[in-house]
Amino acid sequence: MTIREVEQEIKKLRKQLEEYNQLYFLFNEPKVSDTEYDLLLKRLAELENTYPQFKIDSTPTESIGSDLTPGAKVIKHKERMYSLENAYSLEEVRSSLFRIARLLEIESAELPIYLELKIDGFSINLFYDKGTLQYATTRGDGFEGEDVTENIKQIKSIPTTIPHQAPIEIRGEIFLPISEFLRINEERAAKGEKSFANPRNAAAGTIKVKNSQIVAERNLDGFFYSIGYAEERPFKSQQEISEFLTKSGFKTNLYNKLANSFEEIEHFCNEWEDKRSTLEYEIDGIVLKVNDLADQDRLGFTDKSPRWAIAYKFKAEEKSTNLLSVEFSVGRTGAVTPVAILEPVYIAGTTVSRSTLHNEDEIDRLDLHHNDRVVIVKSGDIIPKILRTLPEFRSPEAEKVVFPNHCPVCQTPLSKEEDGVIQYCNNINCPAQIQKRIEHFASRKAMDIEGLGEALIAKLLEYNIIEKIEDLYNLDYDKIQELENQGEKSIANLKSAIEKSKERAWDRILYALGIRFVGDKTAKSIAEHYPTYELIKTATIEDLLEIEDVGERIAESVYSFFQNEESIHTLEALKDKGLKLEYESGVKSDLLKGFSFLLTGTLANYTRTEAQQLIEEKGGRVTSSVSKKLNYLIVGENPGSKYDKAKTIDSIKIIDETEFAKLLEEGVEA
Ligand code: NAD
Repeated sequence: MTIREVEQEIKKLRKQLEEYNQLYFLFNEPKVSDTEYDLLLKRLAELENTYPQFKIDSTPTESIGSDLTPGAKVIKHKERMYSLENAYSLEEVRSSLFRIARLLEIESAELPIYLELKIDGFSINLFYDKGTLQYATTRGDGFEGEDVTENIKQIKSIPTTIPHQAPIEIRGEIFLPISEFLRINEERAAKGEKSFANPRNAAAGTIKVKNSQIVAERNLDGFFYSIGYAEERPFKSQQEISEFLTKSGFKTNLYNKLANSFEEIEHFCNEWEDKRSTLEYEIDGIVLKVNDLADQDRLGFTDKSPRWAIAYKFKAEEKSTNLLSVEFSVGRTGAVTPVAILEPVYIAGTTVSRSTLHNEDEIDRLDLHHNDRVVIVKSGDIIPKILRTLPEFRSPEAEKVVFPNHCPVCQTPLSKEEDGVIQYCNNINCPAQIQKRIEHFASRKAMDIEGLGEALIAKLLEYNIIEKIEDLYNLDYDKIQELENQGEKSIANLKSAIEKSKERAWDRILYALGIRFVGDKTAKSIAEHYPTYELIKTATIEDLLEIEDVGERIAESVYSFFQNEESIHTLEALKDKGLKLEYESGVKSDLLKGFSFLLTGTLANYTRTEAQQLIEEKGGRVTSSVSKKLNYLIVGENPGSKYDKAKTIDSIKIIDETEFAKLLEEGVEA
């Protein structure tokens, strides 16, 4: 990696993490999973450590993500609030403990450590004076937090008065019990509202709502574990803090405990990593805190976290469940995707009852059998995945899951493109794909049938007015008028748009048929090479490969399309309806013959389509990418990356709009 690349990666990671922080802390709508976020943060920390010259003060590795809503009332913390240093393995925990021992100048790294469950909720700061709750704030940016006092008062387990009279900041985590989370999401779904991604986001989203009544209805809860500012400190250790909090009426976690050896720590971490799903609330790790407060004082803080605490983060949660069946669904593009139907299981924020198996290879990788017990995980992304099967639970009679070789909807034999893993149904009239196919057929670059949009197509299919593409040219307009309750004018417009589409050229029809991998430019090349439908119908893969722009993937796709009876039937039917399945060259002169052109940026006097048409009328060719074969790049306003790339190839002539206009008039000089 060059230094410049390192710098660029660091900048990119910072920008990405800042965006994720905002989405997570402020909007409670994470775009990526915590595991993915933590991996990026770790990568940034590694780069910053290796290349300290790129370190800056406000880097996400050294500052906490802020939850402050712009314009909200804030209150300054009497003592700063911090995040925690993360460890992603027990080895990392061990080396952090050695570092702590070194800093304390003690021989053994086995100092008393207070172990606490790391509650996956929302950090809160409560300030009490004269035994009464004065206010409650979020962690904010660590220096000041957002005032959420009224909402916090709705949480039944949080005391508004405590025996301790001196001013004191009490800190803990607000969370939503899993059962409450599921209930709220069910209610939201029933009302058509967006579900919360996980209990943590639901808690964070609730704590800031304007209407405190909503908080009261959601049964939030809280665990408390630390003290910020305190004028009197009747405790000498972390364990005593916990006891003080319990005595003062706060809910503390029952499972927290003191450990005196690394073995005990390891055991506690492993035990809870396994048992986390038995809890009524979510935890995402274990927090290890040096027990002695005098030691904590000596260790102090970094800019982001205390030096006396470590958060051991659990790996993505895994759960096992039963495979009930496998559905093979045909997507709107013809791709057949296997989907595992699972016995519902709650994992990392949602109840999972389906999981995609992607393709045949994945079924083979898992060696999936009917009724298997499977392990699922929600890792890298937010989508659940079957990690592995548990063959030890498999009955000897269980049969392997087999990918069908025919489309489950229309029974057409499936085809797999060479090297591809996805099986497709290539039936142009497959009921599972017909809506999408007709939308494409009617689209602007294809047959350009104005007024025939997604909603109307759906209605025509629903009421069996059409079943296949060719039915568009035999419509019962009276029935449509009844159905749509539309004026005569719009029906007349639709009729005329459909009639007009019969004039479209052969290349447009080829494109409109939606042959996989055949875009409008490829369709044009094919139509030029095979100017009639009769000619292409009998072309072999080798023949097709002779066409410029056509590689193996496209050749195979075109070949298999014309091998299909339904395709032939559709084309014959379209021909009968008067569509022209013949190519009429639009070339009017050969001023630009033999030269290729590409456009980038906006031209003042021509749209892209107009410019393209003019080039083609004069015998030139428009390509889609910059390569050594390109002759001219026409550059308009705000050019894109094609401009930069073209500058690196000497043979490409870069021209502006005026020069382009001149070429159209005078042609290319020899
Ligand atoms: P953190 O959640 O890793 O740890 C610090 C927090 O843990 C404390 O502020 C406290 O609120 C909480 N906590 C729970 N139990 C505790 C206990 N017993 N003792 C002390 N603290 C306890 O750090 P953070 O700064 O709050 O958040 C950063 C983390 O949030 C990231 O590591 C990532 O996992 C997640 N995050 C995710 C995204 C995303 O897009 N998915 C974005 C930003 C942050």
